[in-house]
Amino acid sequence: VAAFADVPLAPPDAIFHLTASYKADTFKDKINLGVGAYRDDDGKPWVLPVVKKADDLLRSDPTLDHEYLPIAGLPAFTSAAAKLVLGADSPAIKEDRVTSIQTISGTGANHLGAVFLSRFYRNGKMKCYLSNPTWANHKAIFANAGVETAEYAYFDPHSLGLDLAGMLRAMETCEEGSIFLLHACAHNPTGVDPTQEQWKMIAEVMERRRLFPFFDCAYQGFASGSLEKDAWAIRYFVQRGFEMLICQSFAKNFGLYGERAGCFHFIASTPDAVKRVGSQLAIIQRSEISNPPAYGARLVSLILNSPPLFTEWTQNLSTMASRIILMRSLLHSELVALGTPGSWDHIVDQIGMFSYTGLGGEEVRKLVEESHVYLTSNGRISMAGLTRGNVKYFARAVDRVVR
Ligand code: PLP
Repeated sequence: VAAFADVPLAPPDAIFHLTASYKADTFKDKINLGVGAYRDDDGKPWVLPVVKKADDLLRSDPTLDHEYLPIAGLPAFTSAAAKLVLGADSPAIKEDRVTSIQTISGTGANHLGAVFLSRFYRNGKMKCYLSNPTWANHKAIFANAGVETAEYAYFDPHSLGLDLAGMLRAMETCEEGSIFLLHACAHNPTGVDPTQEQWKMIAEVMERRRLFPFFDCAYQGFASGSLEKDAWAIRYFVQRGFEMLICQSFAKNFGLYGERAGCFHFIASTPDAVKRVGSQLAIIQRSEISNPPAYGARLVSLILNSPPLFTEWTQNLSTMASRIILMRSLLHSELVALGTPGSWDHIVDQIGMFSYTGLGGEEVRKLVEESHVYLTSNGRISMAGLTRGNVKYFARAVDRVVR
Protein backbone atom coordinates (compact mmCIF):
# COMPACT_ATOMS: atom_id res chain seq x y z
CA VAL A 1 0.00 0.00 0.00
CA ALA A 2 0.91 3.62 -0.49
CA ALA A 3 3.76 2.69 -2.81
CA PHE A 4 3.63 6.21 -4.23
CA ALA A 5 3.25 8.16 -1.02
CA ASP A 6 6.70 9.67 -1.47
CA VAL A 7 6.19 10.99 -5.00
CA PRO A 8 7.04 14.68 -4.63
CA LEU A 9 4.29 17.11 -5.60
CA ALA A 10 5.48 19.06 -8.64
CA PRO A 11 4.72 22.76 -9.04
CA PRO A 12 2.19 23.66 -11.77
CA ASP A 13 3.56 24.75 -15.16
CA ALA A 14 4.17 28.50 -14.86
CA ILE A 15 2.36 29.52 -18.06
CA PHE A 16 -0.65 27.27 -17.55
CA HIS A 17 -0.84 28.41 -13.93
CA LEU A 18 -0.84 32.04 -15.08
CA THR A 19 -3.72 31.36 -17.47
CA ALA A 20 -5.70 29.73 -14.66
CA SER A 21 -5.19 32.79 -12.41
CA TYR A 22 -6.26 35.06 -15.27
CA LYS A 23 -9.42 33.04 -15.85
CA ALA A 24 -10.30 33.17 -12.17
CA ASP A 25 -9.93 36.98 -12.05
CA THR A 26 -13.29 38.77 -12.35
CA PHE A 27 -11.88 42.27 -13.02
CA LYS A 28 -13.33 43.51 -16.32
CA ASP A 29 -10.17 45.13 -17.74
CA LYS A 30 -7.85 42.20 -16.95
CA ILE A 31 -5.25 41.37 -19.61
CA ASN A 32 -3.49 38.08 -20.27
CA LEU A 33 -0.02 38.64 -21.71
CA GLY A 34 1.28 35.23 -20.68
CA VAL A 35 -0.02 32.84 -23.27
CA GLY A 36 1.96 32.19 -26.46
CA ALA A 37 -0.96 32.05 -28.85
CA TYR A 38 -2.21 34.60 -31.36
CA ARG A 39 -5.28 36.66 -30.49
CA ASP A 40 -7.18 39.01 -32.78
CA ASP A 41 -7.89 42.67 -32.03
CA ASP A 42 -10.85 41.58 -29.86
CA GLY A 43 -8.56 39.35 -27.81
CA LYS A 44 -10.11 36.21 -29.32
CA PRO A 45 -8.44 33.09 -30.78
CA TRP A 46 -8.34 33.36 -34.59
CA VAL A 47 -9.11 30.50 -36.95
CA LEU A 48 -7.24 31.46 -40.12
CA PRO A 49 -9.82 31.84 -42.93
CA VAL A 50 -7.66 29.65 -45.18
CA VAL A 51 -7.62 26.93 -42.52
CA LYS A 52 -11.42 27.15 -42.26
CA LYS A 53 -11.60 26.72 -46.04
CA ALA A 54 -9.28 23.71 -46.01
CA ASP A 55 -11.24 22.26 -43.10
CA ASP A 56 -14.51 22.53 -45.07
CA LEU A 57 -12.87 20.85 -48.07
CA LEU A 58 -11.54 17.99 -45.96
CA ARG A 59 -14.80 17.44 -44.11
CA SER A 60 -16.77 17.21 -47.32
CA ASP A 61 -14.30 14.78 -48.90
CA PRO A 62 -16.11 11.39 -49.10
CA THR A 63 -12.81 9.51 -49.41
CA LEU A 64 -11.48 10.76 -46.07
CA ASP A 65 -10.94 7.97 -43.55
CA HIS A 66 -9.26 7.51 -40.20
CA GLU A 67 -6.58 5.03 -41.15
CA TYR A 68 -3.07 5.24 -39.71
CA LEU A 69 -0.56 7.46 -41.44
CA PRO A 70 2.81 5.91 -42.34
CA ILE A 71 5.42 5.98 -39.53
CA ALA A 72 7.16 9.01 -41.08
CA GLY A 73 3.85 10.81 -41.59
CA LEU A 74 1.93 12.07 -44.59
CA PRO A 75 4.39 12.22 -47.51
CA ALA A 76 2.68 15.19 -49.22
CA PHE A 77 2.94 17.06 -45.90
CA THR A 78 6.58 16.29 -45.09
CA SER A 79 7.85 17.12 -48.57
CA ALA A 80 5.92 20.41 -48.71
CA ALA A 81 7.16 21.23 -45.21
CA ALA A 82 10.77 20.69 -46.30
CA LYS A 83 10.31 22.96 -49.32
CA LEU A 84 8.69 25.60 -47.16
CA VAL A 85 11.53 25.87 -44.69
CA LEU A 86 14.48 25.16 -47.00
CA GLY A 87 13.19 26.85 -50.15
CA ALA A 88 11.97 24.84 -53.16
CA ASP A 89 15.33 25.22 -54.90
CA SER A 90 17.39 24.24 -51.88
CA PRO A 91 20.67 22.50 -52.76
CA ALA A 92 20.01 20.00 -49.93
CA ILE A 93 16.69 18.95 -51.53
CA LYS A 94 18.17 18.79 -55.05
CA GLU A 95 21.08 16.67 -53.84
CA ASP A 96 18.78 14.32 -51.92
CA ARG A 97 20.39 15.10 -48.56
CA VAL A 98 17.22 15.79 -46.52
CA THR A 99 15.10 13.36 -44.59
CA SER A 100 11.82 14.57 -43.09
CA ILE A 101 9.54 12.98 -40.56
CA GLN A 102 6.22 14.26 -39.22
CA THR A 103 6.17 14.97 -35.48
CA ILE A 104 3.91 16.00 -32.61
CA SER A 105 4.27 19.68 -33.46
CA GLY A 106 7.48 21.52 -32.60
CA THR A 107 7.77 19.96 -29.15
CA GLY A 108 7.79 16.47 -30.65
CA ALA A 109 10.38 17.52 -33.23
CA ASN A 110 12.65 18.84 -30.48
CA HIS A 111 12.21 15.60 -28.58
CA LEU A 112 12.96 13.45 -31.62
CA GLY A 113 16.08 15.51 -32.35
CA ALA A 114 17.29 15.16 -28.77
CA VAL A 115 16.70 11.38 -28.69
CA PHE A 116 18.37 10.91 -32.07
CA LEU A 117 21.47 12.87 -31.03
CA SER A 118 21.69 11.02 -27.72
CA ARG A 119 21.87 7.76 -29.66
CA PHE A 120 23.85 8.62 -32.74
CA TYR A 121 25.92 11.75 -32.27
CA ARG A 122 29.39 11.12 -30.84
CA ASN A 123 28.13 8.43 -28.45
CA GLY A 124 25.62 10.81 -26.90
CA LYS A 125 28.47 12.54 -25.09
CA MET A 126 28.09 16.01 -26.56
CA LYS A 127 26.45 18.77 -24.61
CA CYS A 128 23.68 20.82 -26.14
CA TYR A 129 24.08 24.54 -25.57
CA LEU A 130 20.86 26.51 -25.06
CA SER A 131 20.53 30.27 -25.24
CA ASN A 132 20.20 32.11 -21.93
CA PRO A 133 17.23 32.46 -21.73
CA THR A 134 15.33 30.05 -23.95
CA TRP A 135 11.89 28.50 -24.36
CA ALA A 136 11.18 27.03 -20.94
CA ASN A 137 10.63 23.53 -22.32
CA HIS A 138 13.99 23.07 -24.05
CA LYS A 139 15.92 22.11 -20.95
CA ALA A 140 13.36 19.54 -19.87
CA ILE A 141 13.13 18.00 -23.34
CA PHE A 142 16.89 17.44 -23.53
CA ALA A 143 17.01 16.18 -19.95
CA ASN A 144 14.32 13.60 -20.78
CA ALA A 145 16.43 12.39 -23.68
CA GLY A 146 19.54 12.16 -21.52
CA VAL A 147 21.39 14.95 -23.32
CA GLU A 148 23.34 17.23 -21.02
CA THR A 149 22.65 20.92 -21.52
CA ALA A 150 24.65 24.07 -20.88
CA GLU A 151 23.93 27.73 -21.53
CA TYR A 152 25.34 30.24 -23.97
CA ALA A 153 25.06 33.97 -23.42
CA TYR A 154 22.32 35.48 -25.56
CA PHE A 155 20.36 38.33 -24.03
CA ASP A 156 22.13 41.42 -22.80
CA PRO A 157 20.07 42.86 -19.92
CA HIS A 158 21.73 46.26 -20.32
CA SER A 159 21.06 46.86 -24.00
CA LEU A 160 17.98 44.58 -23.98
CA GLY A 161 19.44 43.24 -27.24
CA LEU A 162 21.77 40.45 -28.37
CA ASP A 163 24.97 39.65 -26.48
CA LEU A 164 26.79 38.62 -29.66
CA ALA A 165 30.25 38.70 -28.08
CA GLY A 166 29.09 36.41 -25.26
CA MET A 167 27.44 34.06 -27.71
CA LEU A 168 30.54 33.80 -29.90
CA ARG A 169 32.74 33.36 -26.85
CA ALA A 170 30.71 30.30 -25.81
CA MET A 171 31.11 28.91 -29.32
CA GLU A 172 34.86 29.49 -29.26
CA THR A 173 35.45 27.94 -25.84
CA CYS A 174 33.10 24.91 -25.78
CA GLU A 175 34.20 21.42 -26.69
CA GLU A 176 34.59 21.01 -30.44
CA GLY A 177 31.55 19.34 -31.97
CA SER A 178 29.10 20.59 -29.32
CA ILE A 179 25.44 21.01 -30.24
CA PHE A 180 24.01 24.53 -30.35
CA LEU A 181 20.28 25.06 -30.28
CA LEU A 182 19.44 28.12 -32.37
CA HIS A 183 16.04 29.80 -32.68
CA ALA A 184 15.54 30.27 -36.43
CA CYS A 185 13.58 33.51 -35.92
CA ALA A 186 11.47 35.33 -33.31
CA HIS A 187 13.52 34.12 -30.36
CA ASN A 188 11.34 32.94 -27.47
CA PRO A 189 11.22 34.50 -24.90
CA THR A 190 13.24 37.61 -25.78
CA GLY A 191 12.10 38.62 -29.30
CA VAL A 192 15.77 39.35 -30.04
CA ASP A 193 17.21 37.85 -33.25
CA PRO A 194 20.71 38.13 -34.73
CA THR A 195 20.93 40.28 -37.87
CA GLN A 196 22.02 38.61 -41.12
CA GLU A 197 25.56 39.94 -40.61
CA GLN A 198 25.60 38.50 -37.10
CA TRP A 199 24.30 35.12 -38.37
CA LYS A 200 27.26 35.05 -40.77
CA MET A 201 29.68 35.52 -37.88
CA ILE A 202 27.90 32.80 -35.91
CA ALA A 203 28.09 30.40 -38.88
CA GLU A 204 31.78 31.10 -39.36
CA VAL A 205 32.65 30.09 -35.79
CA MET A 206 30.31 27.11 -35.82
CA GLU A 207 31.84 25.82 -39.03
CA ARG A 208 35.40 26.25 -37.83
CA ARG A 209 34.71 24.55 -34.52
CA ARG A 210 32.51 21.85 -36.09
CA LEU A 211 29.55 22.74 -33.88
CA PHE A 212 26.25 21.07 -34.75
CA PRO A 213 23.30 23.42 -35.47
CA PHE A 214 19.98 22.35 -33.95
CA PHE A 215 17.48 24.82 -35.42
CA ASP A 216 14.13 25.33 -33.73
CA CYS A 217 11.74 27.04 -36.14
CA ALA A 218 8.39 27.74 -34.51
CA TYR A 219 7.47 31.05 -36.16
CA GLN A 220 8.23 31.01 -39.90
CA GLY A 221 6.16 33.73 -41.59
CA PHE A 222 4.59 34.69 -38.28
CA ALA A 223 7.54 36.81 -37.19
CA SER A 224 8.09 39.23 -40.06
CA GLY A 225 5.20 38.26 -42.34
CA SER A 226 7.76 36.96 -44.89
CA LEU A 227 8.36 33.21 -45.17
CA GLU A 228 11.73 33.87 -46.83
CA LYS A 229 13.01 36.38 -44.32
CA ASP A 230 12.10 34.20 -41.36
CA ALA A 231 13.89 31.19 -42.90
CA TRP A 232 16.96 33.16 -43.91
CA ALA A 233 19.31 31.86 -41.21
CA ILE A 234 18.38 28.23 -41.85
CA ARG A 235 18.86 28.57 -45.61
CA TYR A 236 22.16 30.35 -45.09
CA PHE A 237 23.49 27.49 -42.95
CA VAL A 238 22.35 24.95 -45.56
CA GLN A 239 24.06 26.93 -48.28
CA ARG A 240 27.30 26.84 -46.32
CA GLY A 241 27.10 23.06 -46.29
CA PHE A 242 26.38 22.35 -42.61
CA GLU A 243 25.02 19.02 -41.45
CA MET A 244 22.16 20.13 -39.25
CA LEU A 245 18.62 19.51 -38.11
CA ILE A 246 15.43 21.56 -38.06
CA CYS A 247 12.40 21.35 -35.80
CA GLN A 248 9.41 22.89 -37.52
CA SER A 249 6.13 23.80 -35.87
CA PHE A 250 2.89 24.74 -37.61
CA ALA A 251 1.17 25.76 -34.37
CA LYS A 252 1.64 29.51 -34.72
CA ASN A 253 1.81 30.12 -38.45
CA PHE A 254 -1.33 28.07 -39.16
CA GLY A 255 -3.06 28.69 -35.81
CA LEU A 256 -3.18 24.91 -35.37
CA TYR A 257 -2.00 24.84 -31.75
CA GLY A 258 -4.05 21.87 -30.62
CA GLU A 259 -3.70 19.81 -33.77
CA ARG A 260 0.01 19.13 -33.18
CA ALA A 261 1.26 19.43 -36.74
CA GLY A 262 5.03 19.58 -36.99
CA CYS A 263 7.97 18.21 -38.87
CA PHE A 264 11.58 17.23 -38.24
CA HIS A 265 14.19 17.61 -40.98
CA PHE A 266 17.72 16.28 -40.96
CA ILE A 267 20.26 17.47 -43.50
CA ALA A 268 23.26 15.20 -43.94
CA SER A 269 26.30 15.54 -46.17
CA THR A 270 25.46 12.62 -48.49
CA PRO A 271 22.32 10.83 -49.72
CA ASP A 272 23.64 7.63 -48.19
CA ALA A 273 24.07 9.19 -44.73
CA VAL A 274 20.62 10.77 -44.85
CA LYS A 275 19.06 7.43 -45.71
CA ARG A 276 20.67 5.84 -42.66
CA VAL A 277 19.54 8.71 -40.44
CA GLY A 278 15.98 8.46 -41.79
CA SER A 279 15.84 4.75 -41.06
CA GLN A 280 16.82 5.32 -37.43
CA LEU A 281 14.38 8.20 -36.99
CA ALA A 282 11.61 5.85 -38.11
CA ILE A 283 12.68 3.27 -35.51
CA ILE A 284 12.55 5.87 -32.73
CA GLN A 285 9.21 7.23 -33.93
CA ARG A 286 7.66 3.75 -34.09
CA SER A 287 8.54 3.00 -30.48
CA GLU A 288 7.34 6.34 -29.17
CA ILE A 289 4.18 7.34 -31.04
CA SER A 290 3.89 4.61 -33.68
CA ASN A 291 2.68 7.16 -36.22
CA PRO A 292 1.77 10.84 -36.06
CA PRO A 293 -1.71 12.43 -35.88
CA ALA A 294 -3.34 12.94 -39.27
CA TYR A 295 -5.78 15.82 -39.26
CA GLY A 296 -3.57 18.86 -38.75
CA ALA A 297 -1.04 17.52 -41.27
CA ARG A 298 -3.82 17.04 -43.83
CA LEU A 299 -4.91 20.66 -43.39
CA VAL A 300 -1.37 21.99 -43.74
CA SER A 301 -0.65 19.73 -46.70
CA LEU A 302 -3.79 20.83 -48.52
CA ILE A 303 -2.85 24.48 -48.11
CA LEU A 304 0.86 24.16 -48.91
CA ASN A 305 0.19 22.08 -52.02
CA SER A 306 -2.55 24.27 -53.53
CA PRO A 307 -1.25 27.49 -55.14
CA PRO A 308 -4.45 29.53 -54.49
CA LEU A 309 -4.71 28.35 -50.87
CA PHE A 310 -0.99 28.98 -50.37
CA THR A 311 -1.42 32.57 -51.56
CA GLU A 312 -4.35 33.05 -49.21
CA TRP A 313 -2.30 31.62 -46.36
CA THR A 314 0.49 34.14 -46.92
CA GLN A 315 -2.15 36.88 -46.68
CA ASN A 316 -3.46 35.44 -43.40
CA LEU A 317 0.12 35.29 -42.11
CA SER A 318 0.60 38.89 -43.00
CA THR A 319 -2.59 39.80 -41.08
CA MET A 320 -1.18 38.22 -37.92
CA ALA A 321 2.36 39.56 -38.29
CA SER A 322 1.13 43.09 -39.07
CA ARG A 323 -1.20 43.19 -36.09
CA ILE A 324 1.63 42.21 -33.77
CA ILE A 325 3.99 44.74 -35.32
CA LEU A 326 1.25 47.39 -34.94
CA MET A 327 0.85 46.53 -31.25
CA ARG A 328 4.59 46.98 -30.75
CA SER A 329 4.45 50.41 -32.30
CA LEU A 330 1.30 51.47 -30.38
CA LEU A 331 2.76 50.33 -27.07
CA HIS A 332 6.00 52.12 -27.84
CA SER A 333 4.25 55.41 -28.69
CA GLU A 334 2.00 55.22 -25.62
CA LEU A 335 5.03 54.81 -23.34
CA VAL A 336 6.89 57.61 -25.08
CA ALA A 337 3.82 59.87 -24.83
CA LEU A 338 3.52 59.13 -21.09
CA GLY A 339 7.20 59.96 -20.64
CA THR A 340 7.65 56.60 -18.92
CA PRO A 341 11.21 56.49 -17.50
CA GLY A 342 13.70 54.44 -19.54
CA SER A 343 14.14 53.69 -23.21
CA TRP A 344 11.42 51.61 -24.83
CA ASP A 345 12.96 51.23 -28.29
CA HIS A 346 13.52 47.52 -27.68
CA ILE A 347 9.74 47.05 -27.89
CA VAL A 348 9.86 47.96 -31.59
CA ASP A 349 13.29 46.45 -32.27
CA GLN A 350 12.29 43.00 -31.04
CA ILE A 351 10.35 40.64 -33.29
CA GLY A 352 7.67 37.95 -33.08
CA MET A 353 5.07 37.17 -30.51
CA PHE A 354 7.17 37.91 -27.44
CA SER A 355 8.88 40.87 -25.97
CA TYR A 356 11.28 40.97 -23.07
CA THR A 357 10.16 44.22 -21.49
CA GLY A 358 13.00 44.54 -19.02
CA LEU A 359 10.45 44.68 -16.17
CA GLY A 360 11.69 42.92 -13.04
CA GLY A 361 10.04 40.52 -10.60
CA GLU A 362 8.71 43.20 -8.25
CA GLU A 363 7.28 45.25 -11.12
CA VAL A 364 5.66 42.15 -12.57
CA ARG A 365 4.13 41.27 -9.21
CA LYS A 366 2.61 44.76 -8.98
CA LEU A 367 1.26 44.57 -12.52
CA VAL A 368 -0.53 41.35 -11.66
CA GLU A 369 -1.76 42.36 -8.22
CA GLU A 370 -2.63 46.00 -8.79
CA SER A 371 -3.55 46.15 -12.48
CA HIS A 372 -4.77 42.60 -13.25
CA VAL A 373 -2.21 42.31 -16.06
CA TYR A 374 -0.89 38.76 -16.23
CA LEU A 375 2.67 38.13 -17.43
CA THR A 376 5.52 35.78 -16.54
CA SER A 377 7.90 36.79 -13.75
CA ASN A 378 10.79 37.24 -16.22
CA GLY A 379 9.00 40.28 -17.69
CA ARG A 380 8.10 38.58 -20.97
CA ILE A 381 4.88 39.73 -22.59
CA SER A 382 3.00 38.20 -25.48
CA MET A 383 2.30 41.03 -27.91
CA ALA A 384 -0.67 39.01 -29.15
CA GLY A 385 -2.45 39.71 -25.86
CA LEU A 386 -2.51 43.44 -26.62
CA THR A 387 -5.31 45.05 -28.65
CA ARG A 388 -6.16 48.56 -29.78
CA GLY A 389 -8.67 48.47 -26.91
CA ASN A 390 -6.27 47.59 -24.06
CA VAL A 391 -2.84 48.90 -25.06
CA LYS A 392 -3.41 52.27 -23.36
CA TYR A 393 -4.47 50.60 -20.13
CA PHE A 394 -1.37 48.41 -20.25
CA ALA A 395 0.99 51.33 -20.99
CA ARG A 396 -0.43 53.28 -18.02
CA ALA A 397 -0.01 50.27 -15.76
CA VAL A 398 3.64 49.90 -16.85
CA ASP A 399 4.18 53.61 -16.35
CA ARG A 400 2.93 53.35 -12.75
CA VAL A 401 5.19 50.44 -11.81
CA VAL A 402 8.43 51.87 -13.18
CA ARG A 403 8.06 55.30 -11.59
N1 PLP B 1 10.03 25.98 -29.92
C1 PLP B 1 9.82 27.24 -29.56
C2 PLP B 1 10.96 28.19 -29.53
C3 PLP B 1 8.55 27.66 -29.18
O1 PLP B 1 8.35 28.94 -28.82
C4 PLP B 1 7.48 26.73 -29.21
C5 PLP B 1 6.15 27.14 -28.78
O2 PLP B 1 5.93 27.96 -27.94
C6 PLP B 1 7.76 25.42 -29.63
C7 PLP B 1 9.04 25.09 -29.97
C8 PLP B 1 6.78 24.30 -29.75
O3 PLP B 1 5.48 24.52 -29.89
P1 PLP B 1 4.51 23.41 -30.41
O4 PLP B 1 4.91 22.10 -29.80
O5 PLP B 1 3.17 23.86 -29.97
O6 PLP B 1 4.66 23.38 -31.89
